[in-house]
Amino acid sequence: LNYQTAQYMISAPTLAQCPPETGAEVAFAGRSNAGKSSSINTLTQNSRLARTSKTPGRTQLINFFSLHKGTDQRLVDLPGYGFAKVPEKVKLEWQRHLSEYLLQRQSLRGIVLVMDIRHPLTEFDQMMLQWADEVNKPVHILLTKSDKLKRGAAKNALQQVRSALQEWQDLVTIQMFSSLKKDGVDQLRKKLDEWLAD
Ligand code: GDP
Repeated sequence: LNYQTAQYMISAPTLAQCPPETGAEVAFAGRSNAGKSSSINTLTQNSRLARTSKTPGRTQLINFFSLHKGTDQRLVDLPGYGFAKVPEKVKLEWQRHLSEYLLQRQSLRGIVLVMDIRHPLTEFDQMMLQWADEVNKPVHILLTKSDKLKRGAAKNALQQVRSALQEWQDLVTIQMFSSLKKDGVDQLRKKLDEWLAD
């Protein structure tokens, strides 16, 4: 599939406002600052795409991009879970919308879970894995910013995450990624091709 022609469709505050559940889509999730926007930009070779999602007012929304105009294949940018202090009420509301989307969305084929390779498996990541497991949806983990570690250390980090997630091995695949070095793009593309194929 060609990811370079992806274009912004719509932003939805709740599941009810998402586009129709036809076709297939893949959702990107990650704690704020993990590198989610950069990974979407790297995949689509379009530095303006994920900027759309960072537009003030859109950061808490579910942002949809269609792969090509008129096709029924979509990339979805889920709101980043901030470490900025937000009121508990806002946090719970956000969690509710996210879990609704993940647990109920029929067209969702898989979740790309973006983690900073130096800080993997945060509480947010665990929550995402739990939800994915509940509905038996596959998760592809990007250990991104791999350029920040030396080769050996990066391999160790990958191995550690792999062991920690051994019990999820039927559902979870893991790879290294670097938006800076454009490393791992082919591997990511292959996984998305697999998920988005009819
Ligand atoms: P998001 O909040 O998850 O969307 O994170 P961003 O994509 O905005 O990235 C957060 C910060 O990490 C930015 O300063 C990026 O430039 C940086 N960053 C993202 N990906 C990489 C990467 O692969 N390598 C390096 N060195 N920095 C990265």
